Amino acid sequence: MSTRREFVEGAAGAAGIAFVACNLTSATPVQAQGRRREVVVNGRRVKTVDVHAHCAVPEAMALMGRKVEPQTLLMSQPADRIRAMDEQGIDVEALSINPYWYKADRDVARELIRIQNEKLAEACAANPDRFVAFASVALQHPDLAAEQLEEGVKKYGLRGAGVGGSVAGEDLADPRFHPFWAKAEQLGVLVFIHPQADGAAADLKPRLRGSGGLENAIGNPLETTIALSHLIFEGTLDRFPGLKICAAHGGGYLPSYAARSDAICVTFPDRCTKPLRKKPTEYLKQLYFDSLVFTPEALRHLVAETGPNQIVMGTDYPFPWTRTSVDHILGTPGLSDDERVAMLGGTAARLLGIKA
Ligand SMILES: [Zn+2]
Repeated sequence: MSTRREFVEGAAGAAGIAFVACNLTSATPVQAQGRRREVVVNGRRVKTVDVHAHCAVPEAMALMGRKVEPQTLLMSQPADRIRAMDEQGIDVEALSINPYWYKADRDVARELIRIQNEKLAEACAANPDRFVAFASVALQHPDLAAEQLEEGVKKYGLRGAGVGGSVAGEDLADPRFHPFWAKAEQLGVLVFIHPQADGAAADLKPRLRGSGGLENAIGNPLETTIALSHLIFEGTLDRFPGLKICAAHGGGYLPSYAARSDAICVTFPDRCTKPLRKKPTEYLKQLYFDSLVFTPEALRHLVAETGPNQIVMGTDYPFPWTRTSVDHILGTPGLSDDERVAMLGGTAARLLGIKA
């Protein structure tokens, strides 16, 4: 059994990434190099916010023997990231880190999260006009996660929490996570739910092999669909009515087939064993969803099911799903100027405490 120090050094060497490579702290404010796209709606300059932007902290990953992939996740060269933001018309990114630490014991999880949240805070402080961040939390230890969220918000100035769609095989609606949800509600901060590659779809892995990258293509949205459905049907959203939750990838499949969640309790009432305060679909109107649904028709439908003030822009940077998130919102027919402004950044700015 190696000590953690040896483990860290071994992992760092194996990864070929010197710790200094994550040069978050010394990052001087980055001046725009190229042309910065400024988004305007009907003569109004809009501060655009991307709520779905990944990054990684190699020092923390080393504690779990992991390395950063792809390298573009690194914040060591914020100029590259800011250049991409400038090209796409993104003024502010809300950074989050995809959980990989849900199997870590309490001591490792405590240290790992401390490092990550410190580094996130430093990255934001270096370019405060361009970055805010979601705290990472060790949700497998719910009481610790509640502490980490509070510290992240109060000590490090982070704007909410990023969590997986499940926690080492457990659903977010499991009562053992109530202390975390209670803290998020009490602090009034946004919780960004992003699916886990080894999440709910893990059981389906054998069937998701083959062409099409189905583990990602349909496994990720399925994980989000399951997570949100449990939060609704288990009564978690009733128990914590002030929760602010944003789901990645447009909420997965849930908004696409929402009415079935109402119909199940009508058709098979004995299967809906927990009384809810409202119809399942009505909870969609209190949740937030990113706009990463690709087409104007999909965005139109998402708005129809959830409401124009529930959509926030998400790019999934640095994964190249899209470079046209701004144009997607600008180009979707049937939206008012105010609705476009809200989706491009107004709603996210309010939720994340970003000054206009
Ligand atoms: Zn993502």
